Amino acid sequence: MRPVRIGIVGCGKIAREAHVPALSSDPAFELAAVAGPHAGLPGVATFPSLEVMLDALPQLEALAICTPPQVRYELARVALSRGKHVLLEKPPCPSVAALEHLASLAQAAGRTLYQSWHSQHARAVPLAARELAGRRLQRVRIRWKEDVRQWHPGQHWLWEPGGFGVFDPGINALSILTRLLEEPLLARAARLHVPANCATPIAAELSLQTASGVPIEAELDFRTPGMPCWEIEFHSDRGVLTLAEGGASLRRESGDAVSPEADLGGEYTATYRRFAELLASGRSEVDSAPLRCVADLHLLATRIPTDAFTG
Ligand code: NAP
Repeated sequence: MRPVRIGIVGCGKIAREAHVPALSSDPAFELAAVAGPHAGLPGVATFPSLEVMLDALPQLEALAICTPPQVRYELARVALSRGKHVLLEKPPCPSVAALEHLASLAQAAGRTLYQSWHSQHARAVPLAARELAGRRLQRVRIRWKEDVRQWHPGQHWLWEPGGFGVFDPGINALSILTRLLEEPLLARAARLHVPANCATPIAAELSLQTASGVPIEAELDFRTPGMPCWEIEFHSDRGVLTLAEGGASLRRESGDAVSPEADLGGEYTATYRRFAELLASGRSEVDSAPLRCVADLHLLATRIPTDAFTG
């Protein structure tokens, strides 16, 4: 099979660290171009914007949109209207209706839209699914804590409206839950700590439940120096199962550890494998549940002003 000619839109941290390496080692794709205001990759054609790239390279078949979320809807709309298949980074866009509209545009155009959630491809997630199948879940606890200065240096868009703040990483935990739990997640309450000079939260305490009433508590915090903590504890009739390292490893109550190394590269290899499958079968995949959950939490939220953020 001839590789799919793909372009990357938004050539920042995640494009360089994860998308480019995943594409370079995947024979299903040929990275043909990148676009962005200050984009530039050695050996790859570079354009200042999506529109200029599409005019110059009509033979492009697919686009991976890796910009900040605020601009993704417009970019994806243009790409679909020009007949391209689209992979969207997470979180897809700051509006559930916009994501649903993209899904309907893709369907009408007969193109593939893949709303990717890289954490759903983390190594231990399928193991967790198998372990959980035999247990009666009693409660879930999420701790998703990291140092924003270390993991998102200089990313001002995080703090602007539609930038998600601490939900930018936090939505990864919710994407794992929506994959693992076979029921809708219902938001119940949220306390959002919002710096005086920001539109989005730097920390949050969340309360949710599954449709059958299993409580879920979450702490998200961007103010955690040192080692990050990206963990989900599943408390069940057979003890506690902990999905750690963003989903890369699993600890059983006995202390056994499975897949002990975090592996973002592996998540993106699997993301592109899934995109290739969807392209080959002419289907789309849009899981809007994590975004809907974040939107619902904002509807229920109490906002607590906190110290100004100095990045
Ligand atoms: P980033 O480093 O700020 O990169 C974003 C890039 O998009 C920048 O190069 C920016 O260009 C470009 N851009 C902005 N507007 C554009 C437009 N209209 N057209 C083309 N390019 C545009 O951010 P990032 O860390 O890569 O994150 C991007 C997305 O990936 C976020 O939604 C994030 O949640 C997701 N993600 C990030 C990570 C991570 O570890 N960083 C992991 C997984 C997923 P300029 O800088 O020149 O303006």
